[in-house]
Amino acid sequence: MDLFILSLKWMSAPSTARRGVLAGEVGMLVAIIGTLLRHEVVNYQWIMIAFVVGSAIGVPLAYLMPMTAVPQRTALSHAFGALASALIGTAEFYRETPHGFVTVALVVETLLGFLTFTGSLMAFGKLQEILPTRPMVYRGQNVINLVLFGVAAAMGIALMLHPESTWMFPIFAVLSLLFGVMLIVPIGGADMPTVIALLNSYAGLSASAMGFALDNKLLIIAGALDGSSGLILAIIMCRAMNRSFSNVLFGAFGQVQASAAKAEERTVRSASAEEAAEMLDSARLVIVVPGYGLAVAQAQHKLRELYDLLTRRGVDVRFAIHPVAGRMPGHMNVLLAEADIPYEKLFEMDDINSEFAQADVALVIGANDVTNPAARHDKSSPIYGMPILNVDHARTVMVIKRGMSPGFAGIDNELYYMDKTLMLFGDAKVFLTNVVKELSAVRA
Ligand code: NAP
Repeated sequence: MDLFILSLKWMSAPSTARRGVLAGEVGMLVAIIGTLLRHEVVNYQWIMIAFVVGSAIGVPLAYLMPMTAVPQRTALSHAFGALASALIGTAEFYRETPHGFVTVALVVETLLGFLTFTGSLMAFGKLQEILPTRPMVYRGQNVINLVLFGVAAAMGIALMLHPESTWMFPIFAVLSLLFGVMLIVPIGGADMPTVIALLNSYAGLSASAMGFALDNKLLIIAGALDGSSGLILAIIMCRAMNRSFSNVLFGAFGQVQASAAKAEERTVRSASAEEAAEMLDSARLVIVVPGYGLAVAQAQHKLRELYDLLTRRGVDVRFAIHPVAGRMPGHMNVLLAEADIPYEKLFEMDDINSEFAQADVALVIGANDVTNPAARHDKSSPIYGMPILNVDHARTVMVIKRGMSPGFAGIDNELYYMDKTLMLFGDAKVFLTNVVKELSAVRA
């Protein structure tokens, strides 16, 4: 148990995060071994089969899915975890007719388990773009969802009162599965990472309920830790986007905006790698703003080279990290850490926002929504109210991206049309490679 708590604590800081993951893994191994030893009759044959099947799915998932696909991978892990919890609950229900509090725990466990299973699969489908990422909405949707949940909950209560009426269980399970689908359908792809954090919380609560049903203290506590950390993460993400829970769950955010669709004819200024290199070379303070595109291009190592070159020339280079840049919390921290960019050069949004006014260059690499000034003043914008990085306060803004495509929120960015903005069109890795080449060619 201590290992799980230490794991969460260590994972909260990048310098100790690896140790945190290891502690969590060791904790889980000890928990599994302890559970097996506690029960005298254990059918190791089935456990080995489950171990092989689980590893055959889990290991390729871990190694083959790129880092940009971590939200999808997390959604799949939650789906499997929740399914395991729901199936154990189902087995317990049929194995021996439960009584009293155990029935309550089993109903909560299976309800949350089944709805998290289908909900997570839907979230996976949307993030992987197997399903339409746009919110699918229809009239009376919230009422229908509420009624569906109400009927499932009523069936659950009926099962608590009459656990011997097992005929109700399959109906209850199907309703819970259906509710998971209906819950996610109206939510847009842009909100999926937040929803995944919330589903994580449900899966944790389901596991905790399973702990009560099986009288397993470890499951109760580990599930509660999972449930609360998922909820806290979802709250942090909502705050960073200045959104409320209800807005995420019922707001249908991520629909293509009319403003983006009518692509106004506005001019932008662009520059070459050579021009960009010259401006960076003569700057004193450069603030780099990494975003999702940096991860897509896998340009973090090139960025490190640029950082080294500029630092050697006496340029002060800092990195501004927006809490929801990329596609998962901490995405940019992990990406930059991978390239060994010194951690003390990374600044959180609130700590660096006032520095942009002194910066000669704000170099935006594959970030879009987190720099959009519309968030400050355009009340009709879906990102209105989201705190952004004040890149437009810098003397010059340079933006590396491939074209004029919008970011995840699907909206145009007025930053690109400002007089002080230079668009550096190209793939982030290719463009940075060219800038590094140009800089190396200029006198050292
Ligand atoms: P973003 O707004 O999604 O924009 C990414 C930009 O990267 C795109 O405009 C794209 O433009 C560019 N890009 C893609 N591939 C590229 C490449 N190979 N080279 C160069 N540029 C490339 O990203 P962001 O500013 O990081 O914002 C994150 C978004 O995700 C926010 O809307 C946030 O609310 C949302 N979100 C994040 C989290 C989280 O936990 N991090 C959670 C929920 C929601 P081109 O196609 O023109 O190149």
